[in-house]
Amino acid sequence: MTREPQDITILIDVDDVINNLCEAWCNWLDKKYKTGVKYTDIKEWDMRVTFPLLTADEIYAPLLDEEFWHTVNPNVDAIKYVYQLMQDGYNIYLCTTTNYKNVKIKFEFIQRYFPYITWNHVVVCSRKQIINADILIDDAPHNLIGGKYQKILMSQPHNESFDNKAYGIHRVNSWEECYDTIHSIIFSA
Ligand SMILES: [Mg+2]
Repeated sequence: MTREPQDITILIDVDDVINNLCEAWCNWLDKKYKTGVKYTDIKEWDMRVTFPLLTADEIYAPLLDEEFWHTVNPNVDAIKYVYQLMQDGYNIYLCTTTNYKNVKIKFEFIQRYFPYITWNHVVVCSRKQIINADILIDDAPHNLIGGKYQKILMSQPHNESFDNKAYGIHRVNSWEECYDTIHSIIFSA
């Protein structure tokens, strides 16, 4: 029996899936500390590996800074395709691991660029595997390993070396590819 879109729940990560957090973050740290590091230099999830000369507080401070979040840009294709998925009738939830101190700032970012997503479609969760959903789109391998959902990895420099196929995880390089992959997953189920 074919499942209808309203029976299918899709979780979408926020940072580096619908925005350019890492790029903005590197630019911010470069401006402040002259690090010379570009986001394409990030090869590890843990930012402390990329910035060994900065303290953890110096590295993570921008994430709690409202001014910083005004330098983060949306992925323009995400604006279009997330809207399209909602129009298609799927249950769409943004799912973000966010410090509780930063929830308001993060939600304001979402509202600026994705005004069609209301607060009750935003889930803050540090262990996404506990959520009962059909598909998760994320750039962090640790959110995709395990979990009963189908998995789509959004390619980013930090996950380039991750062997997604070993874990049955689809890899996509763009939102257009992501949209097609969602449908190939649903129609092959
Ligand atoms: Mg992310």
